[in-house]
Amino acid sequence: MTRTVETASAPFVEKAPLELYVAPEKPSLIGLSRSELADALGDAGVPPAQRKMRVQQLWHWIYYRGSTSFDDMTTMGKDLRAAMAERFTLARPEVVAEQVSVDGTRKWLLRLEGDGNSKLPHDVECVYIPDTERGTLCVSSQVGCTLNCTFCHTGTQPLVRNLTATEIVAQVQVARDELGEWPSPKEDRRLSNIVFMGMGEPLYNLDHVADAIDIISDNEGIALSRRRITVSTSGVVPQLQALGDRTAAMLAISLHAATDELRDVLVPINKKYPIAELMAGIRAYPGLSNARRVTFEYVMLKGVNDSPADARALVQLLKGIPAKINLIPFNPWPGSPYECSSWSTIEIFAAIVNKAGYASPIRTPRGRDILAACGQLKSESEKTRASVRRKLAVQPGA
Ligand code: SAH
Ligand code: SF4
Repeated sequence: MTRTVETASAPFVEKAPLELYVAPEKPSLIGLSRSELADALGDAGVPPAQRKMRVQQLWHWIYYRGSTSFDDMTTMGKDLRAAMAERFTLARPEVVAEQVSVDGTRKWLLRLEGDGNSKLPHDVECVYIPDTERGTLCVSSQVGCTLNCTFCHTGTQPLVRNLTATEIVAQVQVARDELGEWPSPKEDRRLSNIVFMGMGEPLYNLDHVADAIDIISDNEGIALSRRRITVSTSGVVPQLQALGDRTAAMLAISLHAATDELRDVLVPINKKYPIAELMAGIRAYPGLSNARRVTFEYVMLKGVNDSPADARALVQLLKGIPAKINLIPFNPWPGSPYECSSWSTIEIFAAIVNKAGYASPIRTPRGRDILAACGQLKSESEKTRASVRRKLAVQPGA
């Protein structure tokens, strides 16, 4: 496997050029659901009556042990292992680059296969953020995002496609590999929490996100509790109920403004689903209680949404909702039209929110030196992507 490991501030150079990409010949079983594994076993000649038991075994090896070779699977006979290896692999998406921040944050660029007519791969990013009490993996749900929030880097990426459930689960699998965390530990996990705060809008890809959460939270495998899985949305109101019903995940809302006038600019989906509708949807979110609060994310933009009056309007808006408010210092990116509020402004804002009874942690910017902080997930390789695509498009068979 070719990859680059870089530390702080180093350029994000891709060492596995797109032109050399070869799509895998055999499909991988990584990220498959139980019923998909049963189909795979069927392809390898396992009779229907045996499949359930074999699925259990495969599940254990893939998601509990993190096996990378069928040879590991000693509970399965040699012939079956050979039959599986003939048709399938246990390959993960290739990590084509890694960056490690001075604060321990690690960003991986993963190469996913192309879809549909294009056989060219897509790259997505996945970030691990270690903390004293926990380790959080920030996963992507789409390549790019269609929503164009004005402060977000991902929204500027032209290419967009939904990730499959398999590709979402594979991000967790890769992180566990990189952290050397197999078999799945019961406690003191390095990877203890998952947030859907990477690239993309998870509620535009709810089916796959929900299927992925089913696999990630399955007790016989990776076994991360649903209460440690948070899905962040910009406010796709019609999907909130389904998110709660299908995933029982924790909810985070990218609010960023307390008035429609301002939110229309910062989070344009607000024009479709304005604040009053959003709040009604949140109040109805299944399972909401003081023990299961909604997280409101609020990015601090200098002179835009950071005044004491803005803080009071925010408090007013959230009245009666079991909530905590995450104040996020704006992470600048090349060409971004905003600046981050000053530290003292953020503290004054936090004090007002706090006095009203809401926990208001100020999120410490992590991985800033490697552009891995919120909203900065965007493959640098994208810049060269367009020209390479054009070049390959004229080659026969490309
Ligand atoms: N699309 C989803 C999830 C991904 S964005 C959503 O919008 O919720 C994850 C979080 O990062 C969101 O709260 C988003 O508003 C925030 N974010 C985006 N760009 C940012 C930036 N430049 N600085 C700080 N936070 C940012
Ligand atoms: Fe998309 Fe979220 Fe970025 Fe908005 S903040 S552009 S919804 S990824």
